[in-house]
Amino acid sequence: MRKIAIGLFLLSLYCHSFSQSDPLQQVVSNRSNSIEQQKKPYVILISADGFRYDYAEKYQAGNLLALSNSGVRAASMIPSYPSLTFPNHYSLVTGLYPSHHGIVSNYFYDKTIEQVYSMKGDSTVGDGKWYGGTPLWVLAEQQQMLTASFYWIGSEAAIQQTRPTYYYKYESNESFTIDQRIQVVVNWLQLPVEKRPHLITFYISDVDHAGHTYGPDAPETREAVLGVDAAIGKMVKAVSATGLPVNFIFLADHGMTRIDTSRHLFMPAVVDSSKFVIPRGLELVALYAKNKKDILPLYQQLKKQEKYFKTYLPTNMPAYLHYSKSDDRMNRIGDILLIPDWPYTFANRGRKLNPGAHGFNAYLIKDMHATFFAWGPAFKNIKIDSFENVNVYPVISAILGLPYSFKIDGTPALAKQILKIRSSL
Ligand code: AMP
Ligand code: ZN
Ligand code: ZN
Repeated sequence: MRKIAIGLFLLSLYCHSFSQSDPLQQVVSNRSNSIEQQKKPYVILISADGFRYDYAEKYQAGNLLALSNSGVRAASMIPSYPSLTFPNHYSLVTGLYPSHHGIVSNYFYDKTIEQVYSMKGDSTVGDGKWYGGTPLWVLAEQQQMLTASFYWIGSEAAIQQTRPTYYYKYESNESFTIDQRIQVVVNWLQLPVEKRPHLITFYISDVDHAGHTYGPDAPETREAVLGVDAAIGKMVKAVSATGLPVNFIFLADHGMTRIDTSRHLFMPAVVDSSKFVIPRGLELVALYAKNKKDILPLYQQLKKQEKYFKTYLPTNMPAYLHYSKSDDRMNRIGDILLIPDWPYTFANRGRKLNPGAHGFNAYLIKDMHATFFAWGPAFKNIKIDSFENVNVYPVISAILGLPYSFKIDGTPALAKQILKIRSSL
């Protein structure tokens, strides 16, 4: 017994010193919760990248199944088009479709400023000028409620001059074990009331990595799913020990599908790469013309050569995808779009194709659908149908009592359906 007590004491010292001496945590100084915000509940928004809608059942993720059974379980959540990581994480926190918030792909070209955005570029990922809309953490901080992020797309950038009070640069991803990340969350929740964040975003990449590398049906993907499940179990246990009214939302940005790797699609030879800017992309290839007069002739040629892919102009994309010319608020959608026919993707010459991919139209390919589970004092116990991910924003703003007067693409219908509290809806 004594040994255990000493062990626990040493562990708490270690955790304490870990939080005190964490040089990677970025802290915006001189912020505090207003008295009114201190009375509000808490939300932990967890994204497990690529956690397909059926993974919890398929791989018997016991903690997630039990927790969602006590709260909200959606049949699936429908990602916005394209079903890629950056557009969808940013849709979740802005309530806007990608064409409206501006992160229209993982890589894209802005025709107005003539620059390429890259998910791999520190200078683009951390630059607020790329990000439209009002992310939830900005909405909260503007109303004197503190927020924290253990990663989220956009959280490193000053959007409307505002970052979360506590955040990490994604480059630190390799530096933390999952247990350390959970400890950081607990530490945040144990800060004095005026310094304690009410919204915490948390991101885990493992399931997406395994899904790409081994495919959605592989034992490695099962392991990754069960690893996330164990982490959630630990986090919930550690967080409930704080006794705070914490609401959990566990979701994903998109799903994952098996690719037929026997066929490699390459950029059609008719595309003259000196006449178009072509950012990276395998499930959606966007061509941006340097000269407008080159668009139609190439489009017509490509239409005649469609084999295992389709060619679109942004004027003839299906309206329900909200990825048309008329949706393109920031002038960032390609002039010609090449979309592979499932289950194929485009390939880079000399590179092996991954057996798992996403990015496809979620209304045609169900494998693109994501998980949505939620539990905690604000949530009813209910099973619901599939819904679009732009509707998560009103749920979180209602739980935290954060009004907004601007227009978003999501509606309050989901919040009304799944929340016990209705006052601010
Ligand atoms: P995707 O190609 O759409 O599967 O992108 C997934 C990748 O995005 C992950 O494997 C991460 O490496 C990367 N990623 C996720 N969050 C961030 C972030 N906040 N900043 C930079 N990269 C990220
Ligand atoms: Zn992703
Ligand atoms: Zn991915």
